[in-house]
Amino acid sequence: MTSTRRVRIALEGCGHGKLHDIYAKVTESAKAKGWDGVDLVIIGGDFQSVRNANDLNGMSVPSKYREIGDFHEYYSGKAVAPYPTIFVGGNHEAGNYLFELYYGGWVAPNIYYVGAANILRFGPLRIAGLSGIWKGYDYHQPHFERLPYNEDDVKSIYHVRELDVRKLLQVRTQVDVGLSHDWPRGVELCGNYNDLFKTKPFFREDSEAGKLGSPAAKYVLDRLRPPHWFSAHLHVRYPAVVTHGDYEHHQVRYLANKRTQSVPQGTDRLPGTIHAPVSDTPKETPTSRPSTQPSTHTSAISAWNNFSAVAAKQDAADREMFIQEQSQPAVDRSLNIQSIDSTFKQVSQNGSGRKVVTQHETPAVQENVMVKNSDEIDLDLDSENDSGAGSDIKEVVPMEVDSTMEMDSAKDAQVSQSTIQESEQEVQASTEQGTAEEISEDLRQQLPEGFQRPTTEPARYGPLPEQIYNKHTEFLALGKCEERRACHEYLELMEVFSISDDGEAQPPFCLQYDPEWLAITRAFANQLELGNPKGQVPADLGDENYKAQIEKEEAWVREHIVDQGKLIIPQNFEITAPVYDPEVPIQTKDMPPEYNNPQTAAFCELVDIENKFFLTPLEREQRMIDGPRPSRGGFGPGRHGQRRGRDNGWGRGGRSGGGRGGRGGRGGRGWGGRR
Ligand code: 5GP
Ligand code: MN
Repeated sequence: MTSTRRVRIALEGCGHGKLHDIYAKVTESAKAKGWDGVDLVIIGGDFQSVRNANDLNGMSVPSKYREIGDFHEYYSGKAVAPYPTIFVGGNHEAGNYLFELYYGGWVAPNIYYVGAANILRFGPLRIAGLSGIWKGYDYHQPHFERLPYNEDDVKSIYHVRELDVRKLLQVRTQVDVGLSHDWPRGVELCGNYNDLFKTKPFFREDSEAGKLGSPAAKYVLDRLRPPHWFSAHLHVRYPAVVTHGDYEHHQVRYLANKRTQSVPQGTDRLPGTIHAPVSDTPKETPTSRPSTQPSTHTSAISAWNNFSAVAAKQDAADREMFIQEQSQPAVDRSLNIQSIDSTFKQVSQNGSGRKVVTQHETPAVQENVMVKNSDEIDLDLDSENDSGAGSDIKEVVPMEVDSTMEMDSAKDAQVSQSTIQESEQEVQASTEQGTAEEISEDLRQQLPEGFQRPTTEPARYGPLPEQIYNKHTEFLALGKCEERRACHEYLELMEVFSISDDGEAQPPFCLQYDPEWLAITRAFANQLELGNPKGQVPADLGDENYKAQIEKEEAWVREHIVDQGKLIIPQNFEITAPVYDPEVPIQTKDMPPEYNNPQTAAFCELVDIENKFFLTPLEREQRMIDGPRPSRGGFGPGRHGQRRGRDNGWGRGGRSGGGRGGRGGRGGRGWGGRR
């Protein structure tokens, strides 16, 4: 059999629990191309690996989209994935299931979740993946979420964490493909953005404000520079080309006080340079972007830097807003349906990609609360306030607004562009007030490390490792698989050529671990902190400081894994939670318990690290009895000091099974020892 450096890939944007349709379209498209199937299917997140009704409570989803989907058939064995499939996590996921497989793993036979961050090999390809979406205020947090989740955990569980990004930034050799659910921040500027903004006018506002997409994905793209990067999330097909220049490291760290400390120009600057989009159409710059037309190379860079400074300010504002929110006293929620929680999010997240619309003016009521009105509508389907499980806010209607008009009601459609702009200005003003001045040192000291004033400079990275040499990244974003959409909007079949491999791989290809990544995993294993909201993530020491340790771990990996022929990822999928039972209503409020996943235990054993995910049956039981920890905003009794448990509609204390059959899950027996 001849070796090849080409792999036939089918890329699909968002999964949204429609695997039957996706695979059918892949087969159809392959046939149309004269291909005998594809080697690999890649799905860009919002995969919704929901095993049973309880898993829906680990997923953030507006109630109208609360559906079981068809993944459970692949999980139970009723259906089998016809092609090897990998996916990164998005913002609509069975977060509890993906948590079980933090290091990556089979969610069903032939379907592999990349994990929070990973480098995987598939035949000759090296594929880097980053799961989750960007929310600045959670970036420096540890992975504190453990079941049963409160209404905040269900969302924060999919927010990208710096430690996972830090691991990706340690990679020193060339990869071929990068994957993220949300787009790398600013990547839209490297394509035909005027066409994009014509079909998706709301993206223009976000882009102009420098807040479209994920800074975390951008950091990884800039450093790893794969020839291909794929994303999903914005439900539109969009190609772009990023041209990389000299590497300049940056990651936004906490900026102490934006009134007294100005944001240095270029703090949030893309290390790579941005070139004119590759297209035959002449480009215009987004209208209100500073320094106008990026028609020349220099002005493009300058426009980028301006954009980046704005983005840095917003990231800082996000974090300050979080601190602000932490400082607010508990209030009687019955007085004001618009809670501190929703206000915080609506206001602060304006700084990280969400829109807020004012429909009616009503005066603010609470002291210490930056309330604008009681009828704000959240336009982001990363809907912090949907009326689904756990939310008390019925007035806040989540909806998706873009020019493909995914609006559902006439009421939604009444929201005018001008209203949005006005209210955004208002919210912006509000955000401006949220500076650090009101935050006492005492309070700051009680917060996790990520919120402390920095005592050191941000970690230094660079220069770019010699073995990362690629100069251009072809970016492609795709939409979601829907009957009403043209197939090319959400599906792309392509042959990807490996530049990372010398061509020894032979088909049929299989998924393999990447030795460099395993070394990085070992080097950072002890820094992973689970389940502790006040926990501290050790400071980033920069690549030079980690280099020697990683090299030492590489020697270990060579000896214990590569030389032992253990690089092929074993087909060790096992059912953990009970399979879908139609008799359990999908509206169940019962949280699933945490299951020990034997794949995670096996992986930790392979790389000889502690399995921090392991819970004894007693520990799991206790967690379910205790119920969710109090939420940030403090709906219900949590904020007032009581533990939320038995009667709050989330974790049913004492019923650790999380509904019918819950205890019967094979994971309930506590597989895999703590090492
Ligand atoms: P999801 O399926 O993840 O809930 O949301 C995807 C939809 O939300 C997309 O159709 C897109 O229109 C919208 N969306 C997500 N993030 C952003 C953002 O940062 N800015 C804007 N304008 N829309 C967004
Ligand atoms: Mn999404």
